[in-house]
Amino acid sequence: MKGGCEGLGTQKVAVFGGTFDPVHLGHLLIAQTASTQVELDRVIWVPTRYPPHKSSRSLVEFERRLEMVRQAIVENPAFVVSPVEINRTGSSYAIQTFMELQELYPAIQWYWIVGADAFQTLPKWHCRDILATSVEWLVAPRLLRGSAAEEVGKTCWSDEIYLETQILCQQVAHHLAHTSMPVRWQVLQSPLVAVSSSLIRQFCREGRSIRYLVPEAVRIYIETENLYQSATNQ
Ligand code: ATP
Repeated sequence: MKGGCEGLGTQKVAVFGGTFDPVHLGHLLIAQTASTQVELDRVIWVPTRYPPHKSSRSLVEFERRLEMVRQAIVENPAFVVSPVEINRTGSSYAIQTFMELQELYPAIQWYWIVGADAFQTLPKWHCRDILATSVEWLVAPRLLRGSAAEEVGKTCWSDEIYLETQILCQQVAHHLAHTSMPVRWQVLQSPLVAVSSSLIRQFCREGRSIRYLVPEAVRIYIETENLYQSATNQ
């Protein structure tokens, strides 16, 4: 299966990679914020087949995670999902995905959407220097464990959280300062949403409602397929 989408010329396109196990409203909100803030032509959602950092628990099958993303974004013409990682056998490295997408869409100004927690780990990513300087990073604020914002129980957008995310981005860029090109980034002005895939999985296990935490079609899919019922999906 081809991993791309047809008809893109020289455009502003963002990659949004994630495990999406399952996709939730936090993901949609940051993708939409990125789309508006940077005037993106397209957001390519890329479910990760074997995330290197999440190997300790069993994930829902790739095809099902892909299907949930497909259903979540169906109403937004600027969003597409790419199955580019479908044939991956080992760990899914972002750099490999990016190179494959670049081949599919050669003349594009690339962005990468990421939560602050994931961006913090960028200095440890495989071949980070090439990727770090090939795209502009669109970093969504997220409550980070041990952050000042978490300590005071902040739950919504504030200048403080914006500043905290900016400082984090500066630290990441500083870590990568030896690269020949500068690391470009900007903080997304998205409200803090304390929804995570782990929370959705927990709610499913506990038999609690996930209505309004995921798109309705995704909720129905999860319930029909009995996903996230077992303790191995934590
Ligand atoms: P889990 O709870 O299983 O760790 P997750 O909710 O972090 O999952 P992923 O699919 O791993 O979901 O996330 C994909 C990307 O979206 C990551 O860059 C992550 O930081 C970001 N992200 C996810 N949820 C949010 C959120 N509520 N606010 C900001 N960024 C988010």
